[in-house]
Amino acid sequence: MIATDEKRKLYDTIDEKIETLLQMKPDEASRLSAHEVIRRVYTDPKLGLSWKEADERIKLYGFNEFSVTEQQSLWQKYIEQFKNPLILLLLGSSFVSICMQQFDDAISIAVAIIIVVSVAFIQEYRSEKSLEELNKLVPPTCHCLREGNVQTFLARNLVPGDIVLLTMGDRVPADLRLIDAIDLSIDESSFTGETEPSVKTSQQIPASKSNGIESKKNIAFMGTLVRCGHGRGVVIGTGEFSEFGSVYKMMAAEESPKTPLQKSMDSLGKQLSMYSFAIIFFIMALGWFQGRHILEMFNIGVSLAVAAIPEGLPIVVTVTLALGVMRMAKRKAIVKKLPTVETLGCVNVICSDKTGTLTKNEMTVTSLITSELYQAEFTGVGYDAKGHCMLLDEGKDYKQQMDSIKLVLEVGCVCNNADIIEGQLRGQPTEGALITAALKVNLSDVREKYIRLQEYPFSSEQKIMAVRCLVRSQMNEERFFVKGAIEKVLNYCTHYSSNKELVPINLDRKSQYIKEAQFMGRKGLRVLAMAYGSKLEEMVFVGMVGMLDPPRPGTAESVRTLHGSGIKIKMLTGDSEETACAIAARLGLYAYGSTAVSGDEIDNMSEEALILKLPNVSVFYRVGPRHKLKIVKALQSSGCVVGMTGDGVNDGVALKKADIGIAMGKVGTDVCKEAADMILIDDDFYTIMGAIEEGKGIFYNIRNFVTFQLSTSIAALSLIAFATMIKIPNPLNAMQILWINIIMDGPPAQSLGVEPVDHDVLKQPPRNVKEPMITKDLIFNVLLSAGIIISGTLFIFKTEMSDNMVTPRDTTMTFTCFVFFDMFNSLSCRSQIKSVFTIGLLSNKPFLFSVIGSIIGQMLVIYAPPLQKIFVTEALTLQDLLFLTAISSSVFIVSELKKFVYRQALKRQKRKEVYQNDFV
Ligand code: ATP
Repeated sequence: MIATDEKRKLYDTIDEKIETLLQMKPDEASRLSAHEVIRRVYTDPKLGLSWKEADERIKLYGFNEFSVTEQQSLWQKYIEQFKNPLILLLLGSSFVSICMQQFDDAISIAVAIIIVVSVAFIQEYRSEKSLEELNKLVPPTCHCLREGNVQTFLARNLVPGDIVLLTMGDRVPADLRLIDAIDLSIDESSFTGETEPSVKTSQQIPASKSNGIESKKNIAFMGTLVRCGHGRGVVIGTGEFSEFGSVYKMMAAEESPKTPLQKSMDSLGKQLSMYSFAIIFFIMALGWFQGRHILEMFNIGVSLAVAAIPEGLPIVVTVTLALGVMRMAKRKAIVKKLPTVETLGCVNVICSDKTGTLTKNEMTVTSLITSELYQAEFTGVGYDAKGHCMLLDEGKDYKQQMDSIKLVLEVGCVCNNADIIEGQLRGQPTEGALITAALKVNLSDVREKYIRLQEYPFSSEQKIMAVRCLVRSQMNEERFFVKGAIEKVLNYCTHYSSNKELVPINLDRKSQYIKEAQFMGRKGLRVLAMAYGSKLEEMVFVGMVGMLDPPRPGTAESVRTLHGSGIKIKMLTGDSEETACAIAARLGLYAYGSTAVSGDEIDNMSEEALILKLPNVSVFYRVGPRHKLKIVKALQSSGCVVGMTGDGVNDGVALKKADIGIAMGKVGTDVCKEAADMILIDDDFYTIMGAIEEGKGIFYNIRNFVTFQLSTSIAALSLIAFATMIKIPNPLNAMQILWINIIMDGPPAQSLGVEPVDHDVLKQPPRNVKEPMITKDLIFNVLLSAGIIISGTLFIFKTEMSDNMVTPRDTTMTFTCFVFFDMFNSLSCRSQIKSVFTIGLLSNKPFLFSVIGSIIGQMLVIYAPPLQKIFVTEALTLQDLLFLTAISSSVFIVSELKKFVYRQALKRQKRKEVYQNDFV
């Protein structure tokens, strides 16, 4: 991006056109006519800019994005780490060592400080970088006119002068002066706080009336959301030049709030710090009282404080969450905010859309019934015209049947916005399927017969679409065409077509059609009815089609797995009861004892009644966005943690209300993506399952490294405290304690956070949202491991120190024993339930490398002469090392035994449950 000053210099040397562009602010643009603005930005409203011109403008104006300038350089951030009070204390102790001319100590502590600070700095840097990456996961796109064609590309490539098209659900990609606004209302609440959308116009606004954002009715501001209608506008400001550039910069620079887990880690860290300080103070006071050297006690105390206080805990949590989110993105689920990851493991009800999520949204018309009840079937799949129409009533007049069938498809094609170009669909699959079916009966140019005057767009509330057209051959004749849900279409019909005759429709006839539609629905087909007429209130029913939309592969398995883990799945659809139940049954969602509830029934039910009914309902049919909100609220009131999918503009409220709002990446509008917590790139239900699996896995990984860090920290603290209490010399010196800290906070701990997700986590029931991370089980594990480490290390120290003299060999043995214990402990912390041999010794590569690295480091500390000096160590024999390995493996063996006993108990409990269920 070119800096503003540089740009200005450039503009001075280029021509006046650039100068004018730079000056185009919403204030000015709103007072000018659309025509004048277009003239000033040198563009063509019908063709847009050329790609070449756009490229040139990008060079001058930069990308349409905000660069949040780094307030701090890397060095400043590094120096910042030294402000930690514990590091300052360490610096102080190194200074005291210099004063007392103990230069060796001073250098050792200085080296340790640099290592500790660098580890903390790298962690923080990684955390920041991964959080930055998160923001880039959902780049906004736009629909823009370039060289006469509508193109969809990343909004960052927009330049002043581009012509942008807006439709319902879009996020405005740059500041636009509107040149067309058809029923256009834009939600500007993010800037004005006004919840009522602002109705837009393309008219010029006189200077006297254009003060304030609300009054600029002909400007669409970047970042606002199109609530309804459509329009076109010319870009007058991009990136930081846009009206809200500064607001955006502020928002981007704003730190996102901490997740509940991060908060609880913060408070856990604080609590532990307090306990640690108290114990350290006690150790120092006791040591001093016992007449030990004050400087030695001070150094030990400070090193212990650095080692035992898990200051790295919150930051490792952030890194693990952020890395997990990146992993989820690879599995096609984009999580927008870190807290979502935690909530994912608690979700116990998923409300999923049918079309496109549980099914493929690849529609094919397979059946057709005309108003005369002629029946036909279609062969072929997809949007390829290969396939035939087969008549099922062979005895009847072929031409009459074909004419009636063609009439149904003619209505379907005229009341349609899709196109099929070279076998590729442009538009909605439902509409594409109708065009394909028409091609199969050689109706290719049927739309040419009419001139469309008006469209009443399809909405999931109305469930019909209508168009008003002029018949080309009789230019003064207007005709309406309607397609949609059968009961809605029949509401408009006064007649039905019977071999080109119009016959009044009575209730019997209507219920006959409804029965036929139900029959089609029971086969899992989506039914669309068609009608035409000269008035909307007097339509002629012509027939209906049944469309096949196959379930997505893998959905039935995902449903089974999620059911198995105690997550309930409810299907929400705009389709009819029969279609919905047939598909739900195929996917294993609708079994014996389940019920289906319609949108109308929900409307007539109180929240209490709905709550009572909910447990057995697995299908909600003919529902719209308003019902979704009511369903989420009722589920939440009954104590459920709800994941809800959505795609339309009006789904936004329900998505916001749900504990996890899930937007569709492909068909979803920007509005619902904005409201959602998670976006499914491929709209696939399977992806939700993957996200839940990752979410649970991340939580368990965090719990694993918390267990590891806590047990090491408690072991180190207690070891020194015990030694001081039983009046034996300190088993570890200050440098050794700091080395242990690096292992504890550093790579081995972090690599526990990236443990590959164990697929069995899905079998575990959803976590209770209120359950804290530090459970009784976790505390037991921590204390057990810490107890073994302390006993083992003290045992080695006592045996080595049989002469009552502390030699470098004694501390080397004790120190190495502690480090080995730590390695074995980290190995067993990889899973709380499974044996390490089941999850695979080599399955977590980063862990493997960090353990190997730590052991090599430990060997260097023991055998490399310069390090021997710093750490006051001595070379050990192979026998020593083998002996230490045998002793320290005890923590691993005990943990494996404990896991075995736990697994057996779990199995017994499961068997008991199965037996009880069978008995009941
Ligand atoms: P979901 O995606 O939530 O499962 P859905 O796609 O099944 O919903 P809607 O899109 O709301 O449901 O469609 C409901 C009904 O409206 C369909 O059964 C069909 O009869 C009718 N319908 C769907 N699409 C169109 C359309 N483009 N034009 C006219 N009618 C339509």
